[in-house]
Amino acid sequence: MTCDPLAAVRPGIRALRAYRFDPVPGGLRAKLDFNESPADVPAEAKDAALAALRTRRFAHYPEFGSLRLRSALAASAGLSPEQVVPANGSGEAILAAVSVFAGCGGSLLLAPPVFSLYVQMAGIAGARVAAVPLAGDDFRLDEEAFLARAAEGERTVPLLCSPNNPTGGTVSRAFVRRLCSVAPVVLLDQAYVDFSEEEDDLLPLLAELGNLVLFRTLSKAYSIAGLRVGYAAARPDVAEEIAKAILPFSVDLGAEEIALSVLARSEEVRARCRAIALERERVAAALGALGARVAPSRANFLFFVPPDGDGERVFRDLQARGVLVRDQTAAVAGALRVTIGTPGENDIFLTTLKEVL
Ligand code: PMP
Repeated sequence: MTCDPLAAVRPGIRALRAYRFDPVPGGLRAKLDFNESPADVPAEAKDAALAALRTRRFAHYPEFGSLRLRSALAASAGLSPEQVVPANGSGEAILAAVSVFAGCGGSLLLAPPVFSLYVQMAGIAGARVAAVPLAGDDFRLDEEAFLARAAEGERTVPLLCSPNNPTGGTVSRAFVRRLCSVAPVVLLDQAYVDFSEEEDDLLPLLAELGNLVLFRTLSKAYSIAGLRVGYAAARPDVAEEIAKAILPFSVDLGAEEIALSVLARSEEVRARCRAIALERERVAAALGALGARVAPSRANFLFFVPPDGDGERVFRDLQARGVLVRDQTAAVAGALRVTIGTPGENDIFLTTLKEVL
């Protein structure tokens, strides 16, 4: 017998490319690569959370089942606490659901280009990946092809992202209803929905669709990517099954307190999201005027191909001038994704882009 630990790695894991990022270079003028919020949590919200955190016993585990947080998340989403599964970022909740529904031999049905971690999650869960690529210049979901593929196998689990990372498009409520009528369960990641229109918010559908599972995060609109809180929302009995695939105490005391604090200030968050959506339209128009091909987006980022089609060069030249965007050329030839930052950062991006073109 050979004692080779690498030979003992599951083939599904061995085949994965590790998710990696080159270290962010110093001296950046605009960091627009991670779809983060340009505004940090307001000082008074941090102070309130830190004051509450000081009264907690760090030697003890957090509240079992995060009931306080669960109630606050449910109240903000218009749901009952039993419908909500808090997690260490929405990524953890999505991985749990992928594992519960598609793990050990099921198929995860994606519409690429899409959040690259979904493929990683399928690999971890032991699920296969099936794909119906987005179609056309505006990266539209091929609804009929997706429905047909979703109806094919009992263990085929559709996972859609709306608004979609990286293209920014959304799915309609009518389509989600149709999808839920052909698939046993439908997973829908709404990490960026706070930057979108009210009609794109699928939470109201949970009241009528028992096989719909939604994922939300406080990492983007709520500005707490550094403290890791997200959740799954589903029918209570479905939520209970997803919760089984998340280890107890995955949301720590610090994340819990800051989440409670920012959730209590959701009016400010909504106002900031509206401002970001306006900036998105301004940046999209400016990109279009420069001759870039820009996909219609309802998120806090834009997906575009520069006029010369050479995204790789533009990415490098922008980075050399202190502007960091996301290189998407591996997913779509020539494409880049830029996060909407502050108006000042967006101007730096646009001016620098003009320089490098
Ligand atoms: N879904 C999508 C589409 C994302 O882009 C991200 C983060 N980039 C996540 C989920 C995970 O976010 P988090 O774990 O911070 O909630």
